[in-house]
Formats: sequence, C-alpha cells, structure tokens
Amino acid sequence: MLKAMQMLISTSSFSSSSHRFRPSVHIYGGFSSISLHPSHSSSVNPYFHAAHASRRFTPFRSSSIRSQSNATPPPPPSDRGCSIKFCQWCGAATKHEIPYGDDKPRAVCTNCGKIAYQNPKMVVGCLIEHENKVLLCKRKIEPSYGLWTLPAGYMELGESAIEGAVRETWEEAGAKVEVLSPFTQLDIPLIGQTYIIFLAKLKDSHFSPGPESLECRLFAHADIPFDSLAFSSMLVTLNLYIEDMKRGAAGIHYGIINKRPGTSPSDIHDFSLDYHWMR
Ligand SMILES: [Zn+2]
Repeated sequence: MLKAMQMLISTSSFSSSSHRFRPSVHIYGGFSSISLHPSHSSSVNPYFHAAHASRRFTPFRSSSIRSQSNATPPPPPSDRGCSIKFCQWCGAATKHEIPYGDDKPRAVCTNCGKIAYQNPKMVVGCLIEHENKVLLCKRKIEPSYGLWTLPAGYMELGESAIEGAVRETWEEAGAKVEVLSPFTQLDIPLIGQTYIIFLAKLKDSHFSPGPESLECRLFAHADIPFDSLAFSSMLVTLNLYIEDMKRGAAGIHYGIINKRPGTSPSDIHDFSLDYHWMR
C-alpha cells in the first residue's frame, strides 16, 4: 500500500499533466457521498501546502516539507505490533516471532499457535463550521486533560467513518451535525493512528459538553487556542483549515505526521508534515 503511494507520488502527482481526480458530491440522508472521477486538469494541481503553511507548524525535519519527491517514509520499527503478551483465544503466553510467509514479528500463541495481528486504529471526527466559527471541546479525560480538540474518537466496528464522526460529535459535544465533505486524512505511523476529519455544520444551534468534555465552545478563527490544543493532528487540521479559509475555500487534504521517535505525547509540535496533498 505504501509502495503504491510512493509510486503514485513519484510518477504522477508532481507532474502538471498528471491524472487528476475530481469529486462529485451527492447529498442524501444528511450525509455527503463522494465518488471520484478521473479528469485531466492542470488547474487543480495538488501542491505541497506545508511550504506555505502557517508559522505555527514547527517541523523537526524541515527538508522533508520542502521537497518530498525523493523522500521515503521511514520503515516501521521491526518490533512494532508486538505488545500482546497473552493469547486472546486460550490465554496462554505469546511469543514474538516472524511467522512463515510474513516479514514482521507477530504475537504467536505458544499453546494454540494462533497469531494476533495489531493494526493501526482509525480516529474519526468533525470540524464543525458555524457562523464563521469552529466548535472545539475541552477534554475532560486523559491524555491531554484540559486541552482543546475537535470532537473525535475511535471508529467502532460496524460503522463507517462518517457515522463514527457524527457519533463522536454527539457524544463529546452534544451536537447534531450534517457532514459536508471529507477534510483531512492524517496518518501518524509512529503511534499507529490515522485521523479522518470531516467538515460539518450544526443541524441546529444546540451543543453541550458530553461526559468526556469539560466545555464546548465556538471559536472565531483568530481566537482558536493554538497554544492549548490536545494533539498534533488537531494542530495540523486547524492550521490547514485556517489557511484554506484565507484562500476562500476548504480543500481536501492528505498528509503524514511523522513525529520524532521518543517525542512526548504531550509535545504536539515536534513533527514534520510529509506527503501533504490537497485538492
Ligand atoms: Zn492460544
């Protein structure tokens, strides 16, 4: 998958005549469904937005945000995905080894031989626009207690990303929303998470903090508390949003947040935004 992405980047995305995709949006049931149709256009070239991004970005590897055409994402650590100590099926201890035909260490049960795979988690949420303001929640739980975030949380089995984003928004902000479009997908390989944030609007003007929020508040763009945000993903998403608003329209963004190994979870500034694409 990653190799496919690298090939896509190296062979097409930086060419002005490359194959582009233009979305068509269909609204039904309060949700926006977006299908992708190929189109040729030099006027919608994605560009490497981070070079133009707000000074609030503090990348630790500045070269990676200026020229990514030759960059390659770091390989995952060889021991990643081996935190499972006991078998979820029989309870016996696991051993960490590379199964036959695989190339990564896995947790293999020493009794029944079953393999427990660990894969990245999906976090979904909403950036809610209302009267030129955005809705943020102050966290009532760790990590990042007392810091501000967009309403977001882990996607559940059996739901779509949009359903999860709407559900999390209801749970954390007591807000009923209509999703307008995807906005950001941000991968954070170091911690095995992918964030998908949708643009949304309030169905009515009501919102109130849920059990995991101390407070919910609408912030004018100039008042967004960038110094008190909970996560790097929210810092990037809100910066991209502000930059888009300055240009007059929200784009759709993809990027990789590469946090420096050993970075404290509370340090949301120590990262580089790589492979940033927008349309
Ligand atoms: Zn077992």
